[in-house]
Amino acid sequence: MELTRDNYYSPEADREYMSCSQYQDFLECEAATMAKMHGLFVPKETEALLVGNYVHTALESDEAHEEFIEAHMDSIFKLKTSKATGETSITGKYAAFQKADEIIQIFLTDPTLKQFILMDGENEKIMTGNLFGMKWKIRLDKYTPDRMIIDYKTAADLSTEYNLALGERECFLEAYGYLMRAAVYSEIEKQFTGNKEDPPFIILAVTKQEPCDKGAYLLNHRQRYDWELSVIEAHMKRIREVKWGMVRPRRCGHCEWCRKTKRLTGVIPYYHIKPGYQAECEEEYDGIFASYMEAAQAQRGL
Ligand SMILES: [Zn+2]
Repeated sequence: MELTRDNYYSPEADREYMSCSQYQDFLECEAATMAKMHGLFVPKETEALLVGNYVHTALESDEAHEEFIEAHMDSIFKLKTSKATGETSITGKYAAFQKADEIIQIFLTDPTLKQFILMDGENEKIMTGNLFGMKWKIRLDKYTPDRMIIDYKTAADLSTEYNLALGERECFLEAYGYLMRAAVYSEIEKQFTGNKEDPPFIILAVTKQEPCDKGAYLLNHRQRYDWELSVIEAHMKRIREVKWGMVRPRRCGHCEWCRKTKRLTGVIPYYHIKPGYQAECEEEYDGIFASYMEAAQAQRGL
């Protein structure tokens, strides 16, 4: 299929292509990712996601921003409908979007951030390529004529996080998978353009804190990219088998999808839910897996 701005995030596009978010989703919960891909489940749009998109579209163009606001009036504005006339009027803006306006102003006025935002380039540039035996899609917030990839991020903060698996603290860019994203984007960009050198990958971030924090970061680091790609490769065999309907997806047991569809089969000993007890992940239930198994298998080799 031909990817466009309108179908990029569709279940159909996700069935045909891998993406960085889909990869992260598979690691979180295979069952939810498959259910979403096969149209059984539409996750709730969180306020954090809406705020992120509100800021993104403002940095892209007035047109894109107005279109976004039109489509999300009741999430952004406090509306009141008059009983007498039936007319709806705006009585204010929700606090998260007032903060978003402040964040946009920082992006547009800070001298360092502004110079990247004002650069010539294509917004929401879509590229495709192949990695580890599957087709991948990427969507760049901004792509300049000299191959710079610029990503905008509305962050909670710019702090460090403790990584349980690694047993060490890491920066927010590592914790949220931005090095993984940069490694994948670089590979796909090189395939797409035929260049051999990694493109510069820059993250511009402003936080929702009071007052806001801000940062501009260059993520290029070849050894780190190689490590990130090797981690992805290690997971891809399992992901391919799940995505192509060859094995049943595992249910994480606690996400929105798993809670919504949970079937109790009896009582379990209390210590099975104590922290540290490693319960086996349940596999996706009969009826649900059967409903999309054939469609998933049809994706194999596409
Ligand atoms: Zn789950």
